[in-house]
Amino acid sequence: MTTKSLYGLSPAEIASTLSLEREYQGRQIFEWLIKGVTSFEEMTNLSKALRKELKEVSPISSKVLEEQTDSTGAVKLLIELHDGSPIECVLLVDKEGRQTACLSSQVGCAMGCGFCRTATMGLRRNLEAFEIIEQYVHLLRVGDNITHLVFMGMGEPLANLDEVVSAITYFHQEEGFNIGLRRITVSTCGIAPAIEKLTKLNLPVRLAVSLITANDEQRNEVMPINRSFPLKELKRVLIDYQAVYKKRITLEYVLLSGYNTTQENAKELSEFIRDLDAMVNLIPYNEAAELHWTTPPHQEIEAFTQELDKQKVPYTVRYSRGREIDGACGQLATNLE
Ligand code: SAH
Repeated sequence: MTTKSLYGLSPAEIASTLSLEREYQGRQIFEWLIKGVTSFEEMTNLSKALRKELKEVSPISSKVLEEQTDSTGAVKLLIELHDGSPIECVLLVDKEGRQTACLSSQVGCAMGCGFCRTATMGLRRNLEAFEIIEQYVHLLRVGDNITHLVFMGMGEPLANLDEVVSAITYFHQEEGFNIGLRRITVSTCGIAPAIEKLTKLNLPVRLAVSLITANDEQRNEVMPINRSFPLKELKRVLIDYQAVYKKRITLEYVLLSGYNTTQENAKELSEFIRDLDAMVNLIPYNEAAELHWTTPPHQEIEAFTQELDKQKVPYTVRYSRGREIDGACGQLATNLE
């Protein structure tokens, strides 16, 4: 028996991986796994003999090492993967009580964005689909009604597109977790060719793009990806994406005090969103000990949003949840030592 995880497998694949005599046994196990039951001992409709036979097998490859909760109800899990790599994922609860699972797609990240704490780790490796799915399974134990998924944890999901897509396909299956594609958001720093691939896949998930600034010179400075795929190229693939999926996209604009909050920045942003159906999420920078940026004071945010109002740019200001436990946007990082 050489499986790392039974998550990500179909009932037939489970049956063959475990060399089960009957396919329906694979389905029974699949159904337990979807309920979040990961011990064969608790799968009470399997025969005693089979449960005994499977005693040495673990259906899940990762385990929770640590759980932290903050006053907004956000819960951050530190998870250890089968090779010892640590990753984090977060359950977010909004004011209406809506629960969102924020998942990681890589151990660390190679994109090198200057304002993001995960970037300071560098990239160790991509996650496999089952490792993405298992984060959600662990979060099911802390969230009783998770309805939304966002790929906004550690890593760049579009740099690991195949595994992310196969995890999404699994999450979406009707007989599985049955999560609607419109409730799944993939967030990217803007890898243009991968956005194009996503457009061709006929997988209408929601797309969020970490824009940060609509000025190429600045973006080159804080987001190295922009040197490969500058704003013009990014905008072109976003227009194509929208032509196919007809969905509003989100532009994430982390507000970095004294950097990207000028009147000029607001004008450039309004220029960028022309021809796009986009909502701008303004995210006041979440501070991280390793990074030198600061959160803009209230008046600075106010002056910026006033200019956006003038330019008729649709936006919302999003104070991140999970800040107290370093579980907010851009604050996830684990020690690889
Ligand atoms: N690699 C993907 C997903 C991870 S980042 C991406 O780039 O989109 C998830 C969100 O956190 C992005 O919107 C990103 O812009 C934001 N973010 C990163 N660092 C942040 C910080 N220090 N404060 C606030 N938001 C941050």
